[in-house]
This record gives sequence, C-alpha cells and structure tokens, in this order.
Amino acid sequence: MKKLELININKTYELNIPVLKNISFFVDSGDFLVLLGPSGSGKSTILSIIAGFEPQNSGDVFIDGNNCNKKPCQDRDVAMVFQNYALYPCMNVYNNIAFPLINRHEKKEIVNQKVRTIAKTLHIEDILKKKVDKISGGQKQRVAIVRALAMNPDVMLFDEPTSALDPEMVGEVLALMKELAAEGMTMVVVTHEMGFAREVASRVLFINDGTIQEDETPEELFDHPKNARLQEFLSKIL
Ligand code: ADP
Ligand code: MG
Repeated sequence: MKKLELININKTYELNIPVLKNISFFVDSGDFLVLLGPSGSGKSTILSIIAGFEPQNSGDVFIDGNNCNKKPCQDRDVAMVFQNYALYPCMNVYNNIAFPLINRHEKKEIVNQKVRTIAKTLHIEDILKKKVDKISGGQKQRVAIVRALAMNPDVMLFDEPTSALDPEMVGEVLALMKELAAEGMTMVVVTHEMGFAREVASRVLFINDGTIQEDETPEELFDHPKNARLQEFLSKIL
C-alpha cells in the first residue's frame, strides 16, 4: 500500500533557481527509502516539503492516500529527525519528549504514560531527568528519535541523523533506526552511511540537481550504477 506519494513536485526558493524539478516517487507502507546525492541536490528540501515545513510551488503530496497540500505540518502525522537534534537545551529529557504531546493538548497522565513506556522500550528511562546539555550526542539523537516516535507518526523522516555524531555514537543511532524499520515504520532517510543503506534500505533514490536520476534496490544502485553522475558520486564516497 502506498503510504507516501509525491507527484510532480517543483520548488523554487526566492532566488528563482529551480531546486526541485518534477520530483515524483512513492513509498510503500513499511518501506525504508534512502535519499542519496551531493550537497545542495535538494534532499532536505524534499523532506521539508513532505513534512509541510516548506510549501512546494506545484505538485502534490499524498500521505495515506490523502492530499496534504493544504495540511499544516502539525496535522500531517509525519515526524522529522534532524542532524542537529533540535532539542530544547534548557529542558530535561522527559520534558523534551512530552512537550509536543502537551502542545497537542494531550492529557498530562496520558503524556506521562506514553513518555515512560516509550523511554523504557527504547532504553532511555535512566536519563529522563537529565538536562539535554548534559547527555552525549548519541543520547541526544536517541531522545530526538524517541520524541518523534512518541507522536505516533505514520511516516518518519531523517535528515542526516548521524552526521553530527562522534564515530563511536553512530552505531547506536543506526541500531535504533534498524529496530524501527524491523517494526514496520515507514521511513525516508537522508544518510551517507552506505553500509547501513545497503543493509536496511528497500530502495535508494539518487537525487542530483533537483531530479531523481536513479531509483533502485541498494544492490542494484551500489553494484551496478548506470548514471554517470552516480558513478562519480559513489567513487568519491565509497
Ligand atoms: P541537500 O539537502 O541535498 O544538501 P537542500 O535541499 O538543502 O539540499 O538545498 C537545495 C538547494 O536549495 C541549495 O542550492 C540550497 O542552497 C537551496 N536552499 C535550501 N534551503 C533554502 C532556503 N530556505 N532558502 C533559499 N535557498 C535554499
Ligand atoms: Mg540537506
């Protein structure tokens, strides 16, 4: 079943240079889609348009078969995890996770139950009282993922979630994402962790210059890249 579909998305920021040109793709329920491509190719813009943070100039976004063009971000059942965590530094871990739920007017007892259950499942219950500026980068990203998950999203978007982490922290965040994928969460992920993408992705899209230049299984894309720009890109990062 199609969980997410983009049809002919075009995007130009104020400089009048087209950033996305007729982007169309779909993600089935439970898929793990990786977006790969050089810096500035439009990957983050694609995620922002899906989440509703940025409007497209034309084209349609469907989530669960419903056209979301006019839906504000808070009504989309989509959660996004950023490279820089985007946590509230003055709050403790518990309040960071609870804040969006309270903002959604959920009852305090329900919020409490949700935060504690999910924190336990994802092994962060012992740091709930800590201020976020007192925990490691890996823990911060775990908290950001737990906060996103607590919203019970239909689709999770990850924008280079391990790029700001020290190398020894990367593994624990990738392990958590793998866990979510195994549980059937639909995910769209921008990552340069190629080994991880090869192991976990259902499909990989190569984005270049605002267009999709390849849409393949990871085996096909990494082992038999057809597109010359993709070959050049892989030769630099692998
Ligand atoms: P990627 O995530 O692949 O590095 P982005 O989607 O961030 O690419 O950016 C694609 C292009 O759009 C770049 O040229 C970037 O400078 C431009 N861009 C991104 N965000 C904005 C913005 N808020 N305002 C103007 N230009 C932007
Ligand atoms: Mg980006």
